[in-house]
Amino acid sequence: MTNIHFYIGLDDTDAPDGMCTTWLGALLATIIKAKGMRIISTRLVRLNPTIPYKTRGNAAISLSVIGDPDYTFDLTCSIVLKHASLSCENTHPGIVVSLKKPPSDFYWKAVSGICTIDEARSFLPSHVLHYQGYKLGRGLIGAAAAVCSEFPDHTWELLAYREPERFLLPREVNADSLRLSEDITSPHTWDTWDPDLNGPVCIPHTPDPVLFGIRGDSPYSVDHAYSMIQSEKPGMYQIWMTNQGTDAHLVFYDSGLPQNGISYLMRGFVCTKPKTGEGGHVSFDFKTREVVISCMAFEPTKKFRDIVRSLRPGDELLVAGSYLKETLNLEKIYVFSAEPYSKETPPLCPECGKRMTSAGYKKGFKCKRCGAREKIPEITFESRTITPGWYEVPPGARRHLSRPMRRGFVPPDPSYLPAHRSQLFLKGQHI
Ligand code: ATP
Repeated sequence: MTNIHFYIGLDDTDAPDGMCTTWLGALLATIIKAKGMRIISTRLVRLNPTIPYKTRGNAAISLSVIGDPDYTFDLTCSIVLKHASLSCENTHPGIVVSLKKPPSDFYWKAVSGICTIDEARSFLPSHVLHYQGYKLGRGLIGAAAAVCSEFPDHTWELLAYREPERFLLPREVNADSLRLSEDITSPHTWDTWDPDLNGPVCIPHTPDPVLFGIRGDSPYSVDHAYSMIQSEKPGMYQIWMTNQGTDAHLVFYDSGLPQNGISYLMRGFVCTKPKTGEGGHVSFDFKTREVVISCMAFEPTKKFRDIVRSLRPGDELLVAGSYLKETLNLEKIYVFSAEPYSKETPPLCPECGKRMTSAGYKKGFKCKRCGAREKIPEITFESRTITPGWYEVPPGARRHLSRPMRRGFVPPDPSYLPAHRSQLFLKGQHI
């Protein structure tokens, strides 16, 4: 067997009723090691969270290996044929093996934009050693992006997987031990427990092989938290280096009409008072550059909606979220300023002291009791509850890619963003 360095990428193997590409990746890593090859790194690569084809969290995986690339490619093909949910109409696996890391542009497009299968098929031949798509081969997009991925920022996730014979049984994980594991390892781990929900958020509710996942800032912290968790015996576990929690999906909005399916960071002003609509979603209009868009905090964002409700026209914000159906779905906001908000109300009648009412559009005010008229409204200032700073959705509503505040921000310095984008920001092109 040859002993050379190569990368392998894999995507689109699961279906809503089972399987998970990370499980297949962990199984592949286990078999590769058992065959005497060396695993250098294991990556869990989240891609554009708005892609409609995704089964759950739009994840692909890549492994960096020292060993035999030809043998591993054949091995991966046979594992995919054995385990992927090929009968599901939306499952279209892709496998990529490359001796060098191809240019990262393809990754950046897949994490923040929209790619086509044809794009992947024309990119791959000149950059990789082997690739194989099954059915439509849509998974080639994610597999290629995973192999090309660069992480200017990264976090870690330990995924514990179930024994295959337990896949369809209810998960047995001791909730108190999860909370304790986060209490003890925080701030080095996060999103195990949601204090607002008073429950764990690291256990999937879908019938896939994942038992739970622990997110953190190093392999040691996730492993430390893992050591405290009481649960059914996992069949295997894998620590993944990941772009989760890095905001890699956010694109600075520059100009023109925002595009559906892209996640933006936009700077601008609140232009209408937030209103609560059907289903408890809270929305307001927001002006950025020359466009006015609708921003929405959806019901699952729970207490974050109270923050949004306290915004007022004129507040200057950075808003982050995915733009879908002409609406920005808020993930977090930074409030630059929340000045006292002045409101015009009908004045008290100067004759009888009763509150006057509007006399009609641009006609001033009149007193219903004594008939007196007045032109000037009373100006009152609403005291503000919100202060400058970052506000984010709770763990239970957070997108995988969204950077949690627990990882630290020093706004408005955008240094928390991937280097290539902070350059643009620092040049002032987007402020
Ligand atoms: P799995 O665990 O199987 O990876 P998932 O929720 O991650 O499940 P997939 O079933 O992989 O979702 O489906 C996502 C599909 O979308 C994949 O075929 C992937 O190649 C493709 N895809 C990912 N990112 C993009 C993108 N930016 N543009 C177009 N297609 C994309």
